[in-house]
Amino acid sequence: MIRFEKVTKRYPGPGTPALDQVTLDIDKGEFVYLVGTSGSGKSTALRLVLRELRPTTGRVYVAGKEINRMAGWKVPRLRRQIGTVFQDFRLLPNKSVAENVAFALQVIGRSRRDINKVVPDTLELVGLKDKGDRMPDELSGGEQQRVAIARAFVNRPMILIADEPTGNLDPSTSVGIMNLLGDINQTGTTVVMATHDHGIVDQFRKRVIELEHGKVIRDEAAGSYGFRH
Ligand code: ADP
Ligand code: ADP
Repeated sequence: MIRFEKVTKRYPGPGTPALDQVTLDIDKGEFVYLVGTSGSGKSTALRLVLRELRPTTGRVYVAGKEINRMAGWKVPRLRRQIGTVFQDFRLLPNKSVAENVAFALQVIGRSRRDINKVVPDTLELVGLKDKGDRMPDELSGGEQQRVAIARAFVNRPMILIADEPTGNLDPSTSVGIMNLLGDINQTGTTVVMATHDHGIVDQFRKRVIELEHGKVIRDEAAGSYGFRH
């Protein structure tokens, strides 16, 4: 589903590359943690998958396509197939919960009829069936993250990218979010989650890919966060 072939990414200016000859393969339906200290290259890797960045050298494939060679007009279609969730939720503050989720479908031109069916189903999936009319600031952090996940998943993307999704949440709320990401993964969606959250990685054992100075230094099935940190 995602393949990096000797991917190097240098930002302008001096210094070592943000990613250095990274090769990895993530299959359809996998759940992968991307771990490593701040500055190790996690966000750069995620942004390459979205083609927000291009590799300096090497190739990035998503669903079999080398996305660096993809025509610019096809990039929105690629991104539509990749849901994204962030530490800071990024909800639209002036839209209700249901409207936040519906908006993701409106911008891609889905019919009102579809939206009216899919939005309530997705809110139910994330456990917010009765909160569609609330505004984001009326919700807890964990509930806001559920809305963000609903919005990311409402279009049933093939990949869900989560960048520190539990970073602003307390441990018990984080467990609920992980269970939800696990449910989404069970539907066949490939999940790639960048995280610093040792407790979560050790509790929900999944494949762990560790970056250090832009290099993959560990790639382990059902790994732990690792005691060197
Ligand atoms: P992480 O997500 O693991 O914290 P990043 O991918 O954000 O790591 O950063 C990897 C390296 O690339 C760091 O040294 C960082 O300073 C550098 N970097 C990230 N974004 C930029 C940018 N836009 N311009 C220049 N350097 C950047
Ligand atoms: P409009 O397009 O008429 O401005 P809104 O922006 O109010 O509609 O809502 C957009 C979509 O959000 C609606 O089509 C509906 O599917 C969904 N929606 C709005 N409120 C709710 C709710 N409380 N529960 C479930 N879905 C809702």
